[in-house]
Amino acid sequence: MRDLKILLVRPHVCMPTSRWLQTMLLLEPYAQELIAGGVTAPHDVKICDLAVEKRPLRAFRRVLGEYSPDFVGFGGFSGQFNVNCDLAGLVKDMLPGCVTCLGGIHASSMPSGCNLPGLFDLVVRGDGVSALKTIVAAMESGDDIPESKWILHPASVSFDTLAKMPPPPLHPDGINTLPRRDLVDQSRYFCICYGSPGERIKTLFPRIACVRTSVGCPNRCSFCVVHFLANGKYLQRDVEDVVDEIASLPQEYIYFVDDETFINARRMTRIAELLIARGVKKKYLSWARSDTVCSHPELFELWRRAGLEFVYIGFESLEEQNLKDYNKDATPDQNRRARKILRDLDINIHAAFMVNPDFEEKDFIAIRRGIEEMAPAEYAFTVFSPPPGTKAFHDASKKFICDDPCLYYDCLHTILPTRLPLKKFYRYFALLYAFGAAKIPPRINKVRVPLKDLLKFLAGGVRFGWHIHRLYRDYERKYW
Ligand code: SF4
Repeated sequence: MRDLKILLVRPHVCMPTSRWLQTMLLLEPYAQELIAGGVTAPHDVKICDLAVEKRPLRAFRRVLGEYSPDFVGFGGFSGQFNVNCDLAGLVKDMLPGCVTCLGGIHASSMPSGCNLPGLFDLVVRGDGVSALKTIVAAMESGDDIPESKWILHPASVSFDTLAKMPPPPLHPDGINTLPRRDLVDQSRYFCICYGSPGERIKTLFPRIACVRTSVGCPNRCSFCVVHFLANGKYLQRDVEDVVDEIASLPQEYIYFVDDETFINARRMTRIAELLIARGVKKKYLSWARSDTVCSHPELFELWRRAGLEFVYIGFESLEEQNLKDYNKDATPDQNRRARKILRDLDINIHAAFMVNPDFEEKDFIAIRRGIEEMAPAEYAFTVFSPPPGTKAFHDASKKFICDDPCLYYDCLHTILPTRLPLKKFYRYFALLYAFGAAKIPPRINKVRVPLKDLLKFLAGGVRFGWHIHRLYRDYERKYW
């Protein structure tokens, strides 16, 4: 039996736009905390969060030198794959005997591209908690790590066969593992919160904790990878466990990191009732679908009483045809009604709209009308791209405008050709952000904000807008 030292890494982001977004919202490395939650004594586990580091490569080298792990696990999105390759190369240089493993969304959805035996000893698909338990059990007893459709061995003859199989079923051990929040400095994570009309708020950037109540989503929006990864399943935690976890947290703000939180209205009603009955006083931020808000206005009224402050909604569009094209299963009327229900409850809205690479000038103007209609709100605009690993991604592959579409898969860079010239497309895209910035809640609701937070917000917003405006240049540069 061997006591192991396990290092779990959240890689940094390399694109300037993503870096600037992190000045507005930076959540704890929740995936790594959950995976660490499944590791038991006598093994030791550490989290290295490179997202908070100014010099991530130097910080990573230092951690490797000081901790000298037996196992390093990398997670992250498709756009971080190249960064993970570089980091794994560093591990192999400094600690040749250390086992390296790539997991996360990219490894789960595009395992074939991760068959890099010199860098990764293992590729994990799906739930990292159960996979790491299997890996640790084999390593501690000195056995070979078993190959399966969850755990792939690069360069083995069965890798490509296993990688072509559908993603493995979700979470064989359930989703009740609690995150090891003690492994990172929680004071570094924050969200942006706008308060209520006329309020004087202490900070625009309160500290925040993540809570997961469910995994997966039964819907099938064409731009989303969740139903592919979750096999269309929706797993839910026990309501008492969720309430116990929330009540135990010191942070006032809670961000629900579910794929879709409010799908099961009965369950969410019970959670809100328990929170109110136990006198848990927190403020909540969550995603919700507009059709859910319209079907259950009483649920959001109850959650408002429980502390719901901010709802993120993917409106995507106020045009019927666009919503059909995105397979959104919601209507422009539901989008409008959801906005009214939430505004009447004084719940702030984050309104997400989808920009199609096919857009012409008139389509951008239509989105600007949508901004007007949904105000006040915080706005986000994303560029439609087929998600890596899905059939739509495979079918579109001949049209990709870049050699490495995964690197540019970040909802801001297009990987498909644009109808407008690329430079013009991003000029209009940046204008949407500028237009949306004038309609945010604190401005319209006359919320009083500390000056230093206001300056930070303005500086971050201006830099972000500048990078968006010049995003077309990113295709000519190397960012990792
Ligand atoms: S509702 Fe949300 S999580 Fe579900 S498929 Fe659509 S975008 Fe994805």
